[in-house]
Amino acid sequence: ENGTIPPYAAGLNAPQKQAVLTTEGPVLMLAGAGTGKTAALTARLAHLIATRRAWPSEILCVTFTNKAAREMRNRVARHIGDAVEGMPWLGTFHSIGARMLRRHAELVGLKSNFTIIDTDDQLRLLKQLIVGNDLDEKRWPPRQLAGLIDRWKNRGLNPADLDAAENEAYANGRGQEFYKLYQERLKTLNACDFGDLLLHVLNILRQHRDVLAQYQQRFKYILVDEYQDTNQVQYLWLRLLAQERKNICVVGDDDQSIYSWRGAEVANILKFEKDFPGAAVVKLEQNYRSTPQILAAASGLIDANSERIGKTLWTELPAGDKVRVVGVWDGPEEARRVGEEIERLEREGAPLDQVAILVRAQYQTREFEDRFIQIGLNYRIVGGFRFYERAEIRDALAYLRVIEQPADDLAFERIYNQPKRGLGAKTLDAMSRHARTTQLPLAAASLDLADSDELPARARNTLIGLLGLFVHWREAAEQETPANLMRMVLAESGYEDMLQKDRSPESAGRLENLSELARAMEEYDTLTDFLEHVSLVMDNDARDDGEKVTIMTMHAAKGLEFDNVFLPGWEEGVFPSQRSLDEGGLASLEEERRLAYVAITRARRRCTILHAANRRIYGQWTSSIPSRFVEELPEDMIARETSMTGGASLWRANWSEHDDPFAHVARDAPARTQTRGPGWQRAVSTGYDATPKRLAEPGRSAASFAAKPRSDIALG
Ligand code: ATP
Ligand code: MG
Repeated sequence: ENGTIPPYAAGLNAPQKQAVLTTEGPVLMLAGAGTGKTAALTARLAHLIATRRAWPSEILCVTFTNKAAREMRNRVARHIGDAVEGMPWLGTFHSIGARMLRRHAELVGLKSNFTIIDTDDQLRLLKQLIVGNDLDEKRWPPRQLAGLIDRWKNRGLNPADLDAAENEAYANGRGQEFYKLYQERLKTLNACDFGDLLLHVLNILRQHRDVLAQYQQRFKYILVDEYQDTNQVQYLWLRLLAQERKNICVVGDDDQSIYSWRGAEVANILKFEKDFPGAAVVKLEQNYRSTPQILAAASGLIDANSERIGKTLWTELPAGDKVRVVGVWDGPEEARRVGEEIERLEREGAPLDQVAILVRAQYQTREFEDRFIQIGLNYRIVGGFRFYERAEIRDALAYLRVIEQPADDLAFERIYNQPKRGLGAKTLDAMSRHARTTQLPLAAASLDLADSDELPARARNTLIGLLGLFVHWREAAEQETPANLMRMVLAESGYEDMLQKDRSPESAGRLENLSELARAMEEYDTLTDFLEHVSLVMDNDARDDGEKVTIMTMHAAKGLEFDNVFLPGWEEGVFPSQRSLDEGGLASLEEERRLAYVAITRARRRCTILHAANRRIYGQWTSSIPSRFVEELPEDMIARETSMTGGASLWRANWSEHDDPFAHVARDAPARTQTRGPGWQRAVSTGYDATPKRLAEPGRSAASFAAKPRSDIALG
């Protein structure tokens, strides 16, 4: 240790160094938030490469998000330079799964240029199967089936592996049948869904010993961050891959397990020592991220959970502000308040990219977007209403997918009459029927059909014209860059024309989005690469350009840190979510509490929790109760405030609860509104005199919002 400490290990504490230097054999790093787990894992990666224990291509390193993978790559590069460029196996389970599957696609009956379909396509496909097999889609919704199939895939179950109970879970014992139909259908489309990226690979590793042996040889070292959120199929992967060499290092925190709804099993981290006997267990207790107040508040909260290992956390960082708990009148005021605070921080010189608003649910971001656009505050939505999910973007992508993959029926179906070409439902019917009887992909079947006299002449000509365009674009794809191809398609398909002629307020924004799409494609050399990228940017990704406030879900914020964190909507039914309350089980509530722990521990210097007394839900105003998590915070670590506007702002200063005549409003409002009825509400609302005015305020409509230029939003 003394003498020559390599740069990547300098500054690490003793247990961190142990985790870096114990290169051989299994290692488990189990420690609380902000203790430098990811930092140690990154140093370990650098160490393995720098000491030539392995080539970059011989290390499998799994991160939870693509963004985390990028960050890790950058950090390692800073220490050891370009060697890191060849790190093909650094990424999320899904991206690594996609890479493996492309190499061995034929082993599961796919071609290596398979399409990765998204949830939307998945639902449409399932709907077709349900309707096509005389099932009532109202009674047995596609969404339900999609959920079940996801769950099965996350658990590593193929159709044949389902037990009677699982089979019973859909359409009175037809679960297995439909799962099987769906898988077969995907195969004929040369497509797979996200779950398949994991399950197909597991099947390959299980059934092809030679392939497994090849990867076991290749991966001299395996590193996994956020191990507490691995699901069964991921766990089975890792166990197979690590079986030979057993050089597997996993890091995680049982208190931060927040993806059980997606099949994650915190048990995986708890049984690591059983799976890998003799594992070195490293515990980190010093937190380097948060002030003592933030750390104590978070620790106090998570203490309320019963199912946990329990850890000590301490910090040497100097004392900071207490965690603020701010009661506001309603959602718009919450957004206004946060906007003001951020402007103040900005004036004080705080960088905007060190400010984050973490929400429980996607829909909560809308209010903040609305406000920030009004006041001209730069922000980015990470993992939010994703750019690639907008209708016009999906249409454009569908064209590209058909070019890339003529058998992509879902994509073809989406655009065969988009823009309108006069090909109606009847034509689609005829095409689908013909595709079924000839076993051809939809596009090929249409061409076939256009040769027959089954369709009216006009439809035939239109179809031939369209399919001719695809042939032409496919040829162009050989020569043109993906971006140019995109522009060509938009112009020649008539899509651009359609939007230009459209006089609705949205069409301008749509055209902007499309040119932004072409811009985004500039970074890619091949269409395949670009389409794969689109499939994988599903979660948590945004380009880091310039200083912007980040708005994201708490789930997406895992592993990240910000100087200033705002946590709005801490009300019963919002957080903890209504769903977790309805389920009523201890487990779901404890998962919500872990999420609260994750959220608070993202903050380095300041953390502000907000709750509103009133929310508009489905167009109705309802009064709300502050989250139980607010009450569970250790009282001496928090400072309560009530935000008020107009004359009432006299009370805004840092008054303690006892001095503040309105403190009880924020704390007890709902109970009172419920018992005292609307009269009381009116009485209080006079204290918050901006509310009625704001409700009537013009220019708050969705249309005026949508019409605003959105180019300042980076979407991933
Ligand atoms: P989380 O549980 O949230 O994922 P973590 O345990 O992975 O947190 P890191 O993100 O690795 O923690 O580290 C938290 C912060 O502490 C980072 O800013 C990191 O740079 C810093 N840090 C880590 N180790 C040290 C150290 N030995 N000395 C100083 N700072 C450190
Ligand atoms: Mg981490």
